[in-house]
Amino acid sequence: FAGVAKRSGEEPLISFDDIGGQDIAKGELCEALEFIKDFERIKSLGIRPLKGILLNGPPGTGKTLLAKAAAQFTESAFLAASGSEFVEMYVGVGAQRVRQLFKQAANTARRDNKKSAVIFIDEIEVLGGKRGQNSGHLEYDQTLNELLVQMDGISANDTIRILVIGATNRVDILDPALLRPGRFDRQVKVDLPDKKGRLKILELHTRNKPVAEEVVLNDVANDTFGFSGAHLESVANEAAILAFREKSNVITAQHLRSAVEKVIMGEKLDRIPSS
Ligand code: ATP
Repeated sequence: FAGVAKRSGEEPLISFDDIGGQDIAKGELCEALEFIKDFERIKSLGIRPLKGILLNGPPGTGKTLLAKAAAQFTESAFLAASGSEFVEMYVGVGAQRVRQLFKQAANTARRDNKKSAVIFIDEIEVLGGKRGQNSGHLEYDQTLNELLVQMDGISANDTIRILVIGATNRVDILDPALLRPGRFDRQVKVDLPDKKGRLKILELHTRNKPVAEEVVLNDVANDTFGFSGAHLESVANEAAILAFREKSNVITAQHLRSAVEKVIMGEKLDRIPSS
């Protein structure tokens, strides 16, 4: 099963400062992560270990970045997988992959001299949908059961502390068993950025690019209502490509305007006109 966690052991050199906006999500996440950082005190007070945090929000809003920053913040090893990687034709394979992922997380932390590991599972609804509803697909049920077994097995006495961070856009279809205390008992909402957040994200993604002095990023933030962080990253990149094509050494306001249009056309963004 090579490749269960494709990005296994990769250093997630992402800090919370590299994520624009999302102040509420960052605050809630950091508060929860203190339980991982101050583990000895948590243990001595007999507090049940925090096992899972669920990031809930639309695509491209920075859930993966937040999980990476969480690993960095807690000095944990980081492993990432996607729910769809666990769903196989053959019964039992998905469950085996889940077991292997948890083992791999502990091994990676040990190898890197870390006391904890963050397992990030994107699109968790694919493996964690309500049981019995995937047209009676036994495989889904077994895979989800195995995830529950592994999370229940996390104990305060483990030498390597494991935290599972799940990401989804469909919390409504998750099996309620996943949301029970002791599993994903913290939920953090990761929404589309507001204007202030969009400005921060644009600043982050243009900080290493030559932007003309005339450019007012605040105007771009105004014009990008409904854009996710991923869309804004595309705007910055597309604007740089346009500058390159025009043999310009700087990115102008016009390049940025055209890039915004291009992203809207490309994505057919469902936007309400901004005021
Ligand atoms: P998905 O649900 O599609 O997996 P996601 O919510 O996990 O999406 P990310 O993978 O974290 O989104 O974001 C994709 C890219 O978009 C990032 O690599 C980054 O370039 C940009 N991005 C998204 N949100 C932000 C943000 N808040 N600040 C800075 N960059 C962002």
